[in-house]
Amino acid sequence: MQVLILGGTAEARSLAAVLDERGVPVISSMAGRVSRPRMPAGEVRIGGFGGVTGLAEYVADERITHVVDATHPFATTMTANAVAAAEIAEVPFVRYARPGWSTHPLADTWTWVPSYPAAREAADTLGTRPFLTTGRQTLPHFRDPWADRSVLVRVVEPLTDPAPESWTVVHDRGPYERDGETALLRKHGIDVLLTKDSGGSYTAAKLDAAAELGVAVVVVSRPSLPTGATEVDSLAGVLTHLGAD
Ligand code: NAP
Repeated sequence: MQVLILGGTAEARSLAAVLDERGVPVISSMAGRVSRPRMPAGEVRIGGFGGVTGLAEYVADERITHVVDATHPFATTMTANAVAAAEIAEVPFVRYARPGWSTHPLADTWTWVPSYPAAREAADTLGTRPFLTTGRQTLPHFRDPWADRSVLVRVVEPLTDPAPESWTVVHDRGPYERDGETALLRKHGIDVLLTKDSGGSYTAAKLDAAAELGVAVVVVSRPSLPTGATEVDSLAGVLTHLGAD
């Protein structure tokens, strides 16, 4: 057995730790976008594979027997590539993603939208001081339309393109606490929070803080999985799929 975990998430690290502990050979792959990534247990490789063909070749060369895609729920290109590459290499594929926030007790109070442009339009109707937490790669959807707005942006890594002068950019990464999130929303006079359905607890405190302060919340729904791909939402589910439980 030789498991390839496509990672970059807390779920991927937990899975690598459990498999490594059980003596299952595992290689974790990370994109290499973050300057100081949290490293998983076991073998690690960093950087893209070169699309579907590159990944299929890697799977064959490294004698990978199982591909587990535990990338972020919004890492859609990697997921699509992994599904296609696993099919070419004829190895089993499973998607492991944490449950989304659709079952969160506050979910009914949020505005759910299918895309970043739709999130921007919804936010325009809900407030004037947005807090943008959808990630660095989504900023092109907001930069020009909101070039003259007071926008608070939180990103993990520094921006490659400068933000408009009216924007405030903070660099931080979870996990976040509710008190800190409440203080941040208050400090910047935020009245609408934009996020995506990442799920999990690392970044969920802002949702409670928004509810406490009456801040509107706009959530971009998760992209759908490629047709036919198997998905599990728990560590136990992956272990069962791998026959390693
Ligand atoms: P993406 O758009 O789906 O992927 C773009 C390309 O990056 C892929 O085609 C692949 O390049 C490379 N790549 C992505 N994940 C990789 C991995 N785990 N190992 C090796 N190459 C990888 O991905 P993304 O949204 O930019 O996310 C990049 C990484 O950050 C992922 O590992 C993801 O788990 C993590 N992350 C993403 C988010 C988010 O909001 N999207 C949030 C937190 C963490 P090649 O085609 O050359 O193979």
